[in-house]
Amino acid sequence: MGVSGIATATRLHAAGWTPVIVERSAERRRGGYFVGLFEAGLIAADRLGILSHLHDRNPYSLSYLVDRSGRNFRTFSMKDLPGRPWLMLRGDVEQATFAALPADVEVRYSTVPTSIVQDDDGVDVTLANSVTGQSVTERFDLVVGADGLRSTVRSLVFGPHKQYLHRLGYMVAAFEFPGTPAGLEPGVSVQLVEPDRAMWVFAFADHDPTIMISYRTDDVDAEFTYRAADRIREVFADQPLGATLSDVLDALDHAEHVLFDSAEQVHLNTWHQGRVLLLGDSAWSVTLYAGMGVSAGLIGADLLGELLERHPGDVPTALSEWEQGLRPYIEEYQAVGLKQRAFFVPDALRQIRVRRAMSVVTRFALGRRLLSKALEGAVEARTTDITAKALQRLRSSHPLPAARV
Ligand SMILES: Cc1cc2nc3c(=O)[nH]c(=O)nc-3n(C[C@H](O)[C@H](O)[C@H](O)COP(=O)(O)OP(=O)(O)OC[C@H]3O[C@@H](n4cnc5c(N)ncnc54)[C@H](O)[C@@H]3O)c2cc1C
Repeated sequence: MGVSGIATATRLHAAGWTPVIVERSAERRRGGYFVGLFEAGLIAADRLGILSHLHDRNPYSLSYLVDRSGRNFRTFSMKDLPGRPWLMLRGDVEQATFAALPADVEVRYSTVPTSIVQDDDGVDVTLANSVTGQSVTERFDLVVGADGLRSTVRSLVFGPHKQYLHRLGYMVAAFEFPGTPAGLEPGVSVQLVEPDRAMWVFAFADHDPTIMISYRTDDVDAEFTYRAADRIREVFADQPLGATLSDVLDALDHAEHVLFDSAEQVHLNTWHQGRVLLLGDSAWSVTLYAGMGVSAGLIGADLLGELLERHPGDVPTALSEWEQGLRPYIEEYQAVGLKQRAFFVPDALRQIRVRRAMSVVTRFALGRRLLSKALEGAVEARTTDITAKALQRLRSSHPLPAARV
């Protein structure tokens, strides 16, 4: 029941399949952290029937670089990045995707797969319900593992996590802030960036802001032995906090839902084996630093439906063309995730000074073009209709039936 899973079920239903969604949690997650949905994701959302359930929560995004003493400096925002993202909460996209899900799609909560065994004609999946304690084995034509970074489908079919997870050496915490942090104006986003640590306030016009904190670590395992709020206080403890950071850390102390995790990418040589496919963070986690994880899940779902429609009765061909068409774009998002990490958490003071200089330059149209140029590798992948591009790419390598998009 993440964005990737619900979108896939919606698209496969439209292609004539009968999807069953399996979700470990007892209910759907809500709210959460800030996400930007870039043009490529907006195009996929539109085609999946999701876009009409979404709106940009911060269309006139205003952003400042701040320091602990409260000094501030107007800077460029996410809105200035190529791909003109709509800004919202992760839960908004999930809610919108759920709204587009046909009512007759079966959803099983509190359920996890415990065994996946396949042959040429189908897949036997054992599903365990954590409430009733019952297990059943059922046969499916296709299994899509859209179960996130630490995917159970991946570990059951492809092998243990450690073979595929690549830690970036950074921790991430995210939560909703009730009201407006001290020293800030409502609706204004700020970036408090220091070498190896950063605190971002993502403001919205019609919702409380969300906070994102990220910092470098040499020992990811040790990070998980702390309570998030205590560890983060320690990370920022070497200087007086200042009003805004102090208020944010107090809120973190009392926050009900805090995401606290390490930033990790997933790298696999193939995203499918027989009739089992991985899609979304389970297959390719690009990390928050790429800003494309949600979009990639929507694009993956859209293209999958398209190719299953084009190859009725031939799942293996549909899956291998899906991967062939999609992989170049996902690899680009992963590269952006690595490159753009320093935008969110700089390594050195020098980068912060460059950002200040860029902040002045990007007040002008030419400067914004320079910023786009600096991020050039990602422009096309963020802004175009990836499904159409991927189908074009496949058509040029071998003829396909006429395109529907
Ligand atoms: C702080 C932060 C900021 C981000 N910012 C952006 C952004 O600006 N733009 C962007 O596009 N992306 C952003 N991302 C990334 C984006 O949120 C993810 O890439 C995306 O949500 C992944 O969706 P998914 O559906 O593939 O996986 P998930 O959201 O992880 O969903 C997986 C689902 O599977 C369920 N599940 C897990 N295990 C099992 C199991 N064993 N059995 C059954 N169900 C199971 C989970 O409960 C969950 O419902 C950000 C991420 C973070 C953490």
